[in-house]
Amino acid sequence: MAQTIGFIGLGNMGGPMAANLVRAGHAVRGFDLAPASLEAALSEGIAVAGSALEAAEGADVVITMLPAGRHVVEVWTQLAEALPAGTLLIDSSTVDVESARKAHGLAEARGCLSVDAPVSGGTGGAKAGTLTFMAGGMDAAFAQAEPLLKAMGKNVFHCGAAGAGQAAKICNNMILGISMIGVCEAFALGEKLGLSHQALYDVASVSSGQCWSLTTYCPVPGPVPTSPANSGYKPGFAAALMLKDLRLAQAASLAAGAATPLGAEAAQIYGLFEGLGHGGEDFSAIIRMLRGQGGES
Ligand code: NAD
Repeated sequence: MAQTIGFIGLGNMGGPMAANLVRAGHAVRGFDLAPASLEAALSEGIAVAGSALEAAEGADVVITMLPAGRHVVEVWTQLAEALPAGTLLIDSSTVDVESARKAHGLAEARGCLSVDAPVSGGTGGAKAGTLTFMAGGMDAAFAQAEPLLKAMGKNVFHCGAAGAGQAAKICNNMILGISMIGVCEAFALGEKLGLSHQALYDVASVSSGQCWSLTTYCPVPGPVPTSPANSGYKPGFAAALMLKDLRLAQAASLAAGAATPLGAEAAQIYGLFEGLGHGGEDFSAIIRMLRGQGGES
């Protein structure tokens, strides 16, 4: 059923996601602080509003795709003061679990339905409509959100109550950050031992070292031709975004009293990499730092 959707945050991810909702037959009115994002949205058939509230006016559903928790809480505070009860709010940004739960609370106090639904799949997945959504919220809210999430993605999971989507996202990305460093260390050690990249790949990809960081996103050129290592470590998934997610995992870990020593170490390693000026490179480029290299591959 065609719906009227307000979409706030039309950046690298939000722009193409909103465009896919238009393609699925929905009426989308969007808002972004950046004029360039609004211009790009217009060319995709998204109506443009002058403020977040204007984009949300008369909408059945409002979706936010913003940089961080403080932006989401700020925008949802405005929305919760103005939207009629029963409106569905979905946040697909990656934010800290605490902000996600605060945003749910704002919606609930207004009588609105709410879902936290962060994504994995990057800008390529956003354009192709193949994102994975990890959702948290009440059953009734998820049931209403699911068809829209399916118009923007391929896999949609209901992970539990408010904040569970964000929890799944940061736990998954903590595995990813740690596993990438492990795979990079193994290649760097193999090089010192005179082992070819291909030989290590052939063995580990069918042995117990097998993981996504190795077989899909191999951090050395050659074995997996589509991985960013084959194109100068152009992202892909930028190291700065990996660092953001690892820091969110550490904040959650501290708040929840969980022991995540390797997650903490991964956050430190990516922090160092960003501090050296490599935040814009793909996160698999961390192999250069582990080899003691500067900019060269
Ligand atoms: P982006 O910076 O390209 O887009 C964010 C947009 O929000 C910008 O256009 C900015 O102008 C706008 N914005 C900020 N505050 C606003 C406000 N108050 N009102 C309206 N617009 C506002 O970032 P992105 O890459 O699209 O990422 C968005 C979210 O998705 C982030 O939370 C990020 O962590 C997450 N994410 C990104 C990727 C990725 O590969 N880029 C992958 C998964 C998840």
